[in-house]
Amino acid sequence: MSENNIYKTTEGRKIYIEIDPDICIGAASCVGIDPKTFALNTENRAYVLDLDVSDYETILEAAKSCPTSAIILKDENGNQIWP
Ligand code: SF4
Repeated sequence: MSENNIYKTTEGRKIYIEIDPDICIGAASCVGIDPKTFALNTENRAYVLDLDVSDYETILEAAKSCPTSAIILKDENGNQIWP
């Protein structure tokens, strides 16, 4: 199962946050940088919290911190922002 969420940042920017569970190794650096957006499930795979309380730069920084690039960010039109 892959995570695919439309997320509204604190600036009102809508982005898609996808996490590939086959690539996520549970390193938790995303959770360390943005615990308001990312969490680990019982299988040690990241998922997106549906809280809409983080700003865009923090989410991007968390995505960039992922050692396996498991976090994919897209704009509201589906254009890939990261990686
Ligand atoms: S940083 Fe990447 S590998 Fe680590 S938990 Fe987050 S998504 Fe998974």
